[in-house]
Amino acid sequence: MAKYVRNYLLLLFAVAVAVVAYNIHQMEGQPPHLEYSSFLARLHEGEIREVTLRGGQITGLDRLNQPFSTYAPAPAALLPRLEEQGIKIEARPEPRGSSFWTSTFPVLLLVGGVMIFMVLQQRGGLSRFSEKNLPTPLDSKQKVTFADVAGIPEAQEELEEIVDCLRNPGSITRLGGRIPRGVLLQGPPGTGKTLLAKAIAGEAGVPFYSISGSDFVEMFVGVGASRVRELFKAAKKHAPCIIFIDEIDAVGRSRGAAASAGGQDEREQTLNALLVEMDGFRSDETVVIVAATNRPDVLDPALLRPGRFDRQVNILPPDINGRIKILEVHARLVEMADSVDLADVARSTPGFTGAELANLINESALMAARKHKQEVELEDIEEARDKILMGAERKGLVINAEERKVTAYHEAGHAIMAKLLPNTDPVHKITIIPRGRAMGVTQQVPLDDRHAYSREYLMNRIKILLGGRTAEEIVFREFSTGASNDLQAVTNLATRMVCEWGMSSVLGPRAYIKEATGFLGGDAGSRPYSEEIARAIDAEINQLIETCYQEAMIILEGKIKYLHRLAAILLEHETIDGKEADIIMGCAQIEQETVPVGIEPASKE
Ligand code: ADP
Ligand code: ZN
Repeated sequence: MAKYVRNYLLLLFAVAVAVVAYNIHQMEGQPPHLEYSSFLARLHEGEIREVTLRGGQITGLDRLNQPFSTYAPAPAALLPRLEEQGIKIEARPEPRGSSFWTSTFPVLLLVGGVMIFMVLQQRGGLSRFSEKNLPTPLDSKQKVTFADVAGIPEAQEELEEIVDCLRNPGSITRLGGRIPRGVLLQGPPGTGKTLLAKAIAGEAGVPFYSISGSDFVEMFVGVGASRVRELFKAAKKHAPCIIFIDEIDAVGRSRGAAASAGGQDEREQTLNALLVEMDGFRSDETVVIVAATNRPDVLDPALLRPGRFDRQVNILPPDINGRIKILEVHARLVEMADSVDLADVARSTPGFTGAELANLINESALMAARKHKQEVELEDIEEARDKILMGAERKGLVINAEERKVTAYHEAGHAIMAKLLPNTDPVHKITIIPRGRAMGVTQQVPLDDRHAYSREYLMNRIKILLGGRTAEEIVFREFSTGASNDLQAVTNLATRMVCEWGMSSVLGPRAYIKEATGFLGGDAGSRPYSEEIARAIDAEINQLIETCYQEAMIILEGKIKYLHRLAAILLEHETIDGKEADIIMGCAQIEQETVPVGIEPASKE
């Protein structure tokens, strides 16, 4: 609704601008005004060259060809004097009518026309949808099967049953059971929800209608609802079939919540139409609705009721075995060298989703092709992964020597902290080649998939993040702007430790989460806790960061010779990997040396 009103306001604004612009344009055409008496005086002095008379309005040029205009009470009386001086005289009929009809009216007419045209377009869009824009089922060439989906066996198992229903409805409902109507796939983007839905259709050999929730949300109230009805009508005609609704949260958000008024009426109507359609199937119509979302928490409970989306399948990013399987599926599509061990690749890509792994393989194939190779090798995959994780190298960027030096110490600071602290992820690569928006990168790759983090791990993470800036401070006695991302991450982590994970002994095991989006009805930013607690939270976050900072300071000051050494080598070689860094720092040596108070010696594999 707001969108609708906003569009008209914009249009109104455009009209106003057009009218003003047109009038200014008209006025600009007017030469500077001259008082009648001055005109007479100048005429007397023979300074007028030519005039044009329009009733009482006189315009003309003076001897210097400067235009002027004036108004004469009795122009006829002037004529003899003008003639006498041999001035060129031109006469025109008097201008007609009021300025409204000549200036504002044509503009209004034009804008009105445009408005009517736009409305007609929209109406046209409404009826066009039913004919043309209705999603057409995928053809058999694009057929996807469960063989194309890897690494999510649990989800696949749950969906096998749906495939059976679609293939052979009779055998399932033999004992009076009802075919599941809706399946909700929930999980982060890129985990293969769309792929799975397509695979269900492919396995069952039924048409697949795909539409995105945002396609329903339109400027005009009622369009979305009519789209829903059209879609279901077409699907029923082709039953058995699958309707896939991506991003269902765009229509299915909890009704009556959302403080934002944006598109409220329209969305509610669309959602209601969807619910009505889902309830209105006859038992012999085998249409399964598969919906996907990454925000199951905002969905209207009415959608999740039995008989609607009563099957909910969670899809999580794959674990290491899943990643191996997904990599295998996608490696088949490219010329992969036999020497590549996909298990290694899977190990170095924790947290990657299916889509990211697919992208990784594709990027590495492009990389290898650019180097005129016949096959994709491990180094291409590594390079592609670095590019995905850290952004592309910016070799062309000119960096002055001072900046390079600061960056080298900064990255060395991160790396040394990561090496010395226990319970941290191993350092994989350190580089001072600018990548993406960073001047340098210290990359850590976890050994295994982690799902929970200890307080110690998180504290150490903060210390590592602060290590860059601390190294700069120790060596140069000042700060650069290069640490801004680190500080952002530090603040974020510390805040979550205190507010979300209950890791502060002062505030205790309670969650203090702000509703940032306000979808629970409160206005954005309102806090479910008192002013005092807000202050305590701030103090606690500061305290946490300060403690970590002090420790980082102690460690790096104690290991300053490693800092100098690593920075010097970075300046020379630009990039070193984790193993080289181990050697450079002489791990064995470090362990034997005395470690500052309160810090455990680094445990090394
Ligand atoms: P989502 O719908 O969850 O955002 P998609 O299904 O669109 O994700 O996934 C995008 C692409 O990523 C797929 O086309 C496929 O190439 C790849 N992909 C994602 N998950 C998997 C998987 N489990 N197995 C194989 N490929 C996958
Ligand atoms: Zn940094």
